Amino acid sequence: MARDPRYDILFEPIKLGPKVARNRMFQASHCTGAGSERPGFQAHHRAIKADGGWAVVGTEYCAVAPEAETTPYISARLWDEGDVRNLTLLTEMAHDRGALARVQLYYSALNNGGLESRMHGVRKSPSHSGADSGMLLAGREMSTQEIREVQGYFVRAARLARDAGFDIVEINITINSLPHQFLLPAFNLRTDEYGGSLENRARFSIELLEQVREAVGHDTAVTARYAVDTLDAPYGLGDLGIRVEGDGGGFMQLADYLVDMWDLVVGWTDGGDRVGPARTHPENWAADVVRRARKFSEKPIGCVGRLTNPDTMVEMIRSGQCDVISAARPTIADPFIPNKIEEGRIQDIRECIGCNICIASWHDSVPVRCTQNPTIGEEWRRGWHPERFAAPGSDSAVLVVGGGPAGLECALSVARRGYAVSLAEAADAFGGRLRFETRLPGLATWGRVLDWRLGQLQRLTNVNLYPGNELSVDDILGLEHPRVVIATGARWTRSLYSTLELPVGELAGPDVYTPDDIAAGISPEGPIVVFDFDNYYMGSLVAEHLARGADSVTYVTPAGHASAWAIMTNEQPQVHRALATAGVAVLTLSRVTALAGGEATVANLFTGAERRLPCRSLVIVGVRRATDSLYQALCARNEDFAAAGIISVDRIGDALAPGAIVHAVHSGHRYARELDCPTRSDPYLRDSPLLPTAPLLYDDGSRERSAP
Ligand code: ADP
Ligand code: SF4
Repeated sequence: MARDPRYDILFEPIKLGPKVARNRMFQASHCTGAGSERPGFQAHHRAIKADGGWAVVGTEYCAVAPEAETTPYISARLWDEGDVRNLTLLTEMAHDRGALARVQLYYSALNNGGLESRMHGVRKSPSHSGADSGMLLAGREMSTQEIREVQGYFVRAARLARDAGFDIVEINITINSLPHQFLLPAFNLRTDEYGGSLENRARFSIELLEQVREAVGHDTAVTARYAVDTLDAPYGLGDLGIRVEGDGGGFMQLADYLVDMWDLVVGWTDGGDRVGPARTHPENWAADVVRRARKFSEKPIGCVGRLTNPDTMVEMIRSGQCDVISAARPTIADPFIPNKIEEGRIQDIRECIGCNICIASWHDSVPVRCTQNPTIGEEWRRGWHPERFAAPGSDSAVLVVGGGPAGLECALSVARRGYAVSLAEAADAFGGRLRFETRLPGLATWGRVLDWRLGQLQRLTNVNLYPGNELSVDDILGLEHPRVVIATGARWTRSLYSTLELPVGELAGPDVYTPDDIAAGISPEGPIVVFDFDNYYMGSLVAEHLARGADSVTYVTPAGHASAWAIMTNEQPQVHRALATAGVAVLTLSRVTALAGGEATVANLFTGAERRLPCRSLVIVGVRRATDSLYQALCARNEDFAAAGIISVDRIGDALAPGAIVHAVHSGHRYARELDCPTRSDPYLRDSPLLPTAPLLYDDGSRERSAP
């Protein structure tokens, strides 16, 4: 199908200084875990986005010098010829696919603890500052000479970027970056020409931009990723930050002549506004701020906001909010959004659900993972392409039992390979855990995991869907599908918590519940205690959910925060606020040890001191156990397999190992990729570092010489 003319505006080319982008949809600079040291991963990951139609693709932030590195958080680097060599593969692959290649230059001012480089004493800051981000290293006020040195690193990196073939050099002036810290009254207490007035606080960035422009010449675009508003306290910086109608917009006016485009972001890091999760931030949530920034610039403006809906994109450009749709997570969840719009295949767009597992990957310093797109991060090492599948290796029909995220993904991917597939689900509707979880506060968008897969499956002719069919062993043996995949999920248990994090005996009793009971429609009587040692989203969301119908809900956790792990997904900062708003009392560093006589016994994790909480109902959100009895029973009948024509029986998803939805989807996808595969992807292809051939740059004279 052809593109709907209402989307034409998205495909208008746009000029960025000396360069022209083929359309208005750009991949925003975002982390992947690739950096410069996994060049195969880096290049192939970005190339697939170029394949998918994005007009600009490029790196994550790129540290401009060893003292700017942010280990353990993985960034790209542009320090020397080796980095140029590694990143050149990205630019070549982007150009081959008609995209412009962008690099983002960065000097961190918070996360640069020198953990790898051991550049202690050089955590350079506008002013003296405390140790932050667990780096144990205070920031030291820079001298004027050091300001020149750092600007020089940007110049060197910009030249190296041009050598590597990048079309666009983007300067990071966002939270946690040194240029941004110079702008913020919170960090800049200087009394010299770099502190005080806006003109003075802007001087570092203005000089930097001037020098970089000069260094890259007239054939490379220079753009800025800029945090224009750091929002209200306590989640934002309030008076200590910058606001769009004040210094935020003022800086844009001052620097406008030096940039070819502004890519705007909004928010401060600690509040969870940057890369806001769907739980608290809707699509295009910062529209108002970006609209108000517009008047401060005559250059193209881009903005992010988890933009997956082409109609929203059109409205953003038509209304003058921005000129360019900038997308990070949407390009991860579906690298082919522009092509799908172009080809009139809107219904095929796999929309990001805003769960931020991708961000958690960066916080974990591992290759990017995505709940919606299991192929992300696997482009190079496993060769998985989001839109291309190998032909079937046999004519075996595949039976998938269980229609949760794992079963749905498995059935779809197996079907996309061309196998005949039957998908049976016990419940009347598909979705598995999503049937309940998408009804929890803020998780409606997670339904896209189900909706997209079911929509795709319903359009395929080689798929039979059987909702409302709970299969027994005899049913499966009678269905004569050579390949059987068990995706029957997992159940929450009533296990209590031990300090060794090993489950200790289950707590029985009519007043003890799990999330599965709540999912089944039970409404526990108050007062309710929710005891969470799962530490991700379920405990706090169940508490919030139950607080809507009960007088008293107390959330108890052995962790230091509610939903402690959700710090990884940027959700945690908003969790306490949500619980407070819902009227849920929070008790941390505590574990529930008993329930009797309408009271729960709660012990402090470290002192053992006990207290009692009124409790008619206890909801335990702790350990999940695989629902694999069907698998075990089927395997016990293996002598019947030959007669039933069964070649293999496998488990996937939570039935194999209970985990997050991202694990279930990947597990289902991997089964499909590896079915009848002549070479399995274990071990997978890795990027291998090469020993340097260039002269040694660092040698104090004592280095032992050895043959290369
Ligand atoms: P996962 O996350 O691994 O996909 P879920 O728990 O979300 O796991 O989904 C498992 C699904 O399997 C549930 O929807 C459940 O109803 C279904 N199921 C469990 N046992 C059977 C069975 N015997 N036949 C068909 N479906 C089943
Ligand atoms: Fe979106 Fe979640 Fe995928 Fe990140 S992991 S791109 S938030 S669906």
